[in-house]
Amino acid sequence: MKKKILIYLLLIIFCTVFSVAIIMGLYTKKAINEVLNNYEEFVLMGLEEKVSIFYNFIYLFELDMRKISQKALVSIGKEIENKDIKELTDGYLIELKNKYNISDIYLINSDGVIFKTSDKSDLGLNIFFVGAEFKNKLLKVFGTGNMFFERVDPAAQTGRFKLFSYYGPKGKDYLIETSINLDEYMKKRYQLKCCDNIVYDFFSKKRKKLNYIISLDIYYRSRGKIWSIINRGKYSLKSDEFFEKLKKNRILTIRTGDKVELWKKINIKEGEFHWAAGKYINAVFDFSSIYRYKRKIIIFSIIISLVVFILFYMIALNIVETSFLRRLLLIKSMIKKIANGDYKTKIEIRDEDELSEISQNINKMAGDIDRVMSQLKNNNKILEKKVLERTKELEYKNRSLVKLSKKLDQMARTDFLTGLSNRRAALRKIQDEKIRYKRARKPFVLVLIDIDDFKDVNDTYGHDVGDEVLKRFSILFEASVREQDFVSRWGGEEFLILLPDTDIKGGEILSEKIRKRIADIKIQIGDKTYYSLTITLGLSVYDDTDKTIEQLLKEVDLALYKGKKEGKNRSVVFNREDFDNI
Ligand code: GH3
Ligand code: MG
Ligand code: MG
Repeated sequence: MKKKILIYLLLIIFCTVFSVAIIMGLYTKKAINEVLNNYEEFVLMGLEEKVSIFYNFIYLFELDMRKISQKALVSIGKEIENKDIKELTDGYLIELKNKYNISDIYLINSDGVIFKTSDKSDLGLNIFFVGAEFKNKLLKVFGTGNMFFERVDPAAQTGRFKLFSYYGPKGKDYLIETSINLDEYMKKRYQLKCCDNIVYDFFSKKRKKLNYIISLDIYYRSRGKIWSIINRGKYSLKSDEFFEKLKKNRILTIRTGDKVELWKKINIKEGEFHWAAGKYINAVFDFSSIYRYKRKIIIFSIIISLVVFILFYMIALNIVETSFLRRLLLIKSMIKKIANGDYKTKIEIRDEDELSEISQNINKMAGDIDRVMSQLKNNNKILEKKVLERTKELEYKNRSLVKLSKKLDQMARTDFLTGLSNRRAALRKIQDEKIRYKRARKPFVLVLIDIDDFKDVNDTYGHDVGDEVLKRFSILFEASVREQDFVSRWGGEEFLILLPDTDIKGGEILSEKIRKRIADIKIQIGDKTYYSLTITLGLSVYDDTDKTIEQLLKEVDLALYKGKKEGKNRSVVFNREDFDNI
């Protein structure tokens, strides 16, 4: 259970830490993006302002440059007025441009072609290609003595700031064009350093103050190229699609990784500042350090939340351990004790909560069980006592029954009148002897005795005297035999004696001994003496395992019958030859 709680707690912690990290990450990203977007706009707005100031500066120089151009154009017009212009040499033109502080001279014919110039690269160039409007403007000047000035603008071929001026000397079929390079003008009038300060470092100074900006520039579009003004002469090719997009969006943002490139068309009225027409501000930001910071924030937040949650985990664990688990374990051990039969121990109750209620109920339950158990023990003792008493009683009765059973058994085997073994016991004894013979091969003799003319005794003296005679004879028979010999009452006035371990001769001797003894004695009952009685005995030996008990009994019976027949008062040994018919 403890393990489960730990695992669940850990799971909760990890889930929470990661959720917190993700939320923090997303939030940080959103916040950073918002800040950066604002920052980007702020930078662009600042730049636009700077550009506006920059224009004003340029305009001031432009006015002065116009004066120089005007003076130069008029003077050059006069100088070449009477000359064959076709004969003018390059050296002469260079001389002229130096003389009048201008950068270059161009002579343009009525077809718009430059046919003489100090700038060899432009020789033969048709300037009418600039546009119909421009062409018309020029055509109007030919031969009029008028002139017109363009605005200071980056040159189409080089991207350098230049002022172009045009003059049509009266009655001539050519135009004189002069150009003044802003750089050169600045260099001559002021210092190059000053020019750099005003024109080119204007933005780079700004650049130094701004973080995350890796480049700032002003571009202008000319003949499919986009020229850098700040980095003179630098240009890149941009597709029409790019300019379409730029037209549609106020600001065009191109993101590549952590780098952001912004493009914005300069929004200064064309009439006011001609120069601003078709110019774009370009700023390239590198936010990798900020995004690195974002990643750091996420990692930091993960670490912080991990630390916080581990602390929370430890505290929670401690709370669970002290206020929950420990008490649960106590309850568990208490229940174990109850299960082992200890109902006396009680759980200590301190707080008032669900666990305390459970503990209270367990205590109550233990008390109840204890009470019931002691009651049960008491009842058990009473019951045990009763069972003991009953057992004793039963034991006593059992003993009596055994005695009675023995007695009954004895009675079942004993003849009631004489106290001798009865026929049943005699038969069992014969059976036992027969088994013994089988094992030990020791013969035994059966002697069947019948009292002669006993009917007469009954008839003469009564039945009681007859009974008494039977008792006396029993005693006599018992007294006449060995201890191991077995005397039984066979029935009526007949007795059967079994002589174990005796052959027929021994049996005959004993039979004769008993017969004589009986014949010799007189029986005295009360004060009367009765005349002597005789007995006839029939005997046979068991010395053959094939002989059955029935056969043996038949033999003694036949022998006795023979004795009776021959005159009674005798003992007769069974002889097979005497009885042919059996
Ligand atoms: P025998 O010499 O041929 O044996 O003649 P007996 O009279 O002895 O033989 P019998 O079979 O004719 O008579 C047996 C008599 O024994 C008959 C009967 O009344 C008597 N008797 C048998 N059992 C008892 C007894 O338990 N008590 C008494 N008093 N007489 C008995
Ligand atoms: Mg008889
Ligand atoms: Mg008889």
